[in-house]
Amino acid sequence: MKIVSSLSRRGIGFIKQLPIAYRAVLPIISFSLLILLVYPGEESRATIVSGKGLAAGEPVIEGDRVVIPLELPEPEDDGILVDTPIDGAAAADVRADEKADVKGDAAADESRMWAYEIQSGDTLTGVFQKLNLPLSDLYQVLEADEAVLALDNIKPGVKLLIDVDNEQLQALELKFSPAHKVTYKRKQDAGFEFAETRLPGEWKQYAITGEIGRSFSVDAEAQGLDVRDAYQITRLLKEKINFSRDIRKGDSFEVLVSRQFIDDEPTGETQVEAVRLMANRSPVAIFYYDGTYYDEKGRSLSKAFMRYPFNGKHRVSSNFNPNRHHPVTGLSRPHNGTDFAMRTGTGILAAGDGVVTRVVNHKYAGLYVEVKHSERYTTRYLHLSKALVHKGQRVSRGQKIALSGSSGRVTGPHLHYEFRIAGRPVNAMTAEIPIAKHLEGKSRKEFDSLLGQYLTRMDEARPADGVMVSQRSENTNKSARSL
Ligand SMILES: [Zn+2]
Repeated sequence: MKIVSSLSRRGIGFIKQLPIAYRAVLPIISFSLLILLVYPGEESRATIVSGKGLAAGEPVIEGDRVVIPLELPEPEDDGILVDTPIDGAAAADVRADEKADVKGDAAADESRMWAYEIQSGDTLTGVFQKLNLPLSDLYQVLEADEAVLALDNIKPGVKLLIDVDNEQLQALELKFSPAHKVTYKRKQDAGFEFAETRLPGEWKQYAITGEIGRSFSVDAEAQGLDVRDAYQITRLLKEKINFSRDIRKGDSFEVLVSRQFIDDEPTGETQVEAVRLMANRSPVAIFYYDGTYYDEKGRSLSKAFMRYPFNGKHRVSSNFNPNRHHPVTGLSRPHNGTDFAMRTGTGILAAGDGVVTRVVNHKYAGLYVEVKHSERYTTRYLHLSKALVHKGQRVSRGQKIALSGSSGRVTGPHLHYEFRIAGRPVNAMTAEIPIAKHLEGKSRKEFDSLLGQYLTRMDEARPADGVMVSQRSENTNKSARSL
């Protein structure tokens, strides 16, 4: 059910040309409304275009617009704005527009919903320009976004749902996947409030098995393993084997991987749960438990995280508080990190091994660095004065990655430190982050029972390739996925 229109390639001032555009697009709209009436629950899927994306850099003011520079390849084609009214109210507006057009005046107070999919070469500013939205709206959304920094992660393919009323942005929704969206909603005249939704979805487990003819990743991908998962496995097993020396032709592998589905559609989220590799007749294996990987003896593969990403002692000036509200506006402004008061120029250290995924200058968060430690763990360091690493760089625990500062909107120099597990912020001072080197006691018992299940499934799956071996929802198997 895809409705696409390429009418609005003209971009700027598009709103003003609406009456003509609408006349031309009316048959499409009528058709879409008909479909929407039949499938009222499917409205968001009725508004799809294809495309690639956008990664925001430091916002720059140009005239009355904010320009967010993007690190992107050259655009392959023009952005396509899809004008698909998604409910009855919008349909009424279309008719009102028609009349207005006949009479020759533009309807200024129309309320509409726009769906747009981020294309390669897009800027957020450009999208706002197309909709003729004021600069102040973008600033207010950026402000609400300080707690999530989701706008810095807009890539091609991310879907925007934009609600405009009275030439003002009323709501902006970013849909990253069927399971993950972030919404910014206007609250009277006080600014925007955000809400982040992650659906647990249904996780189905697959067994991917095979024999190595060329290399583990080539052969596993041929059997249906995602490239990203193959890379992760190689990285995890590198501690245990040398892929160029220890692997022989005819060695075999068994991988259990879970994939997330919403309404039977894959969301793209996956989790490698168990891997067994016969490397030159000696098996190596890793198993996922409690957010990290262990060998069959319950020994953790990850190194411990540091509790504090700096040397010495620094006073906590503001605690993690997901329920914080703005004292004046009353808007929800969660504090998703811990603030440490420190002199500008203090060395900031990577809390664990990982890869730098962002070095961004944000109007409110200031200069910040994000490090991805695994598919599950991410840390962020805000209000820096200087980054000592670049995007894509591999860093190790304790490595100096930045100097603290007071960039962005702050009342004084400090470090804002965030720890995220599966995308959700947790209190870095109290969270159970993987620090155990060896499982013991109750967790060892849990691990051993899970290990038994993994091994049974891998044994069962051995003869067939890519067989789905089990199906479960996230809540019914907490042991494998919980923190
Ligand atoms: Zn803070």
